[in-house]
Amino acid sequence: MTSMENIVVIGAGVVGLSCAYNLLNSGEKVTLLERGRPGCGQSTRTGGGIRYLHGTQENISMSFLSELFWKNFESEFNVDINYQTTGHLFLTSNRQKSEELCSIDPDGLLDLSALDRKQIKTKWPYLRQLIQDYGVYCPIGGYLNHQKVIDGLVLGSHKLGGNLREGVEVNTISEMDNSKYRITSSEGIIEANIIINCAGAHAGQFGRSSKAEQSFTSRHHELLIVRPEKPFPEDCPWLIDIDNQVHTRPDGAGRALIGGFLGSNETTELQGYDFPISEDWKQRVLIAAERSFGLIDWDSEVLQHWGGLYPGTVDYQPVIEEEKPGLFTAAGFSGTGLMHAPAAGLIIKDLVKFGKSEKINLAAFSSQRFETLKSVSEKTGF
Ligand SMILES: Cc1cc2nc3c(=O)[nH]c(=O)nc-3n(C[C@H](O)[C@H](O)[C@H](O)COP(=O)(O)OP(=O)(O)OC[C@H]3O[C@@H](n4cnc5c(N)ncnc54)[C@H](O)[C@@H]3O)c2cc1C
Repeated sequence: MTSMENIVVIGAGVVGLSCAYNLLNSGEKVTLLERGRPGCGQSTRTGGGIRYLHGTQENISMSFLSELFWKNFESEFNVDINYQTTGHLFLTSNRQKSEELCSIDPDGLLDLSALDRKQIKTKWPYLRQLIQDYGVYCPIGGYLNHQKVIDGLVLGSHKLGGNLREGVEVNTISEMDNSKYRITSSEGIIEANIIINCAGAHAGQFGRSSKAEQSFTSRHHELLIVRPEKPFPEDCPWLIDIDNQVHTRPDGAGRALIGGFLGSNETTELQGYDFPISEDWKQRVLIAAERSFGLIDWDSEVLQHWGGLYPGTVDYQPVIEEEKPGLFTAAGFSGTGLMHAPAAGLIIKDLVKFGKSEKINLAAFSSQRFETLKSVSEKTGF
């Protein structure tokens, strides 16, 4: 049996849900196809981090464009996402890197402070064991509860009449003669006027140009939650050592979240989201965190350890575009998919309804950049 739809969103991760919600909110009818359940991909395996300081102007703009959504989340969805404002502190011993980070914000929108080690220790006395010479501090942003974000968006979309179909796997998308698209799925054939591909790490599979398809990459990434012997300070900013690629932040009740690529940048073959966790990485990240920040001991009690797929692209920037008339993509967000999902939803809504979005320089997010590979890469290590 063939069903007919106007707008179909593929993937109910945080990005797909945000796109669907924004379209529903603007009066459109939307069907969401999700092969598992909402958030079952990467969106409920994040570190919950919300940053404003990035290596590219476009990513900074995405953070500001998302800001209102986070501020209004509780009043809009009646769900408390436990947004904690900690700010974030990038650390390095390379003066040039710290100057480069500061220069990304010439207009002072991020309210950045460039600090040396002594100034950092004066501002946060518990960072007395810090090894890096320089810090760039951004006082905005923090962390939130990603599961609550998914819950709120599902509830909100449901209230607006969204049709969320769980357990439906999309296999192929093809163009029909009448400017419609034909989807083959585990539940039969679906025809749609508009498709929005938000399949996260699997977005490259639906017949894009081979260059763009190859440009979607995935990286395996893990996180720990630990209980240090001395409670982790709640007012500590999210600490990001870009030299050693390790980061930590408070997680409430004296706990800390720790993550980091530790200098490894290998891509991984596409698989499911459930990776075996690595004891070796766990040991190395604890040692790195102790050495870089001093707030955590290498033998701290580990409360949780999980892994996921960084659904990225070769330059760590997402693809947000109308690839062909009626066929849209919002995917490849690497380490910013949660924090930038609100902006992605607003942009896709504009592209669908008005054929353009003036909210951001979208050339940087077009898959055409992969043809020339002259794009600006995100350099903040995420
Ligand atoms: C360990 C780790 C920590 C992270 N920490 C942060 C952080 O602190 N802050 C931040 O902003 N980002 C973080 N990220 C990145 C963030 O998790 C992702 O960018 C974001 O979740 C991507 O959302 P998405 O909706 O694009 O993808 P997903 O959440 O993966 O959603 C895609 C959905 O599509 C569905 N799907 C796929 N293929 C099909 C198909 N054929 N048919 C039907 N459905 C399909 C999947 O089941 C899935 O639900 C982190 C990533 C990792 C790995």
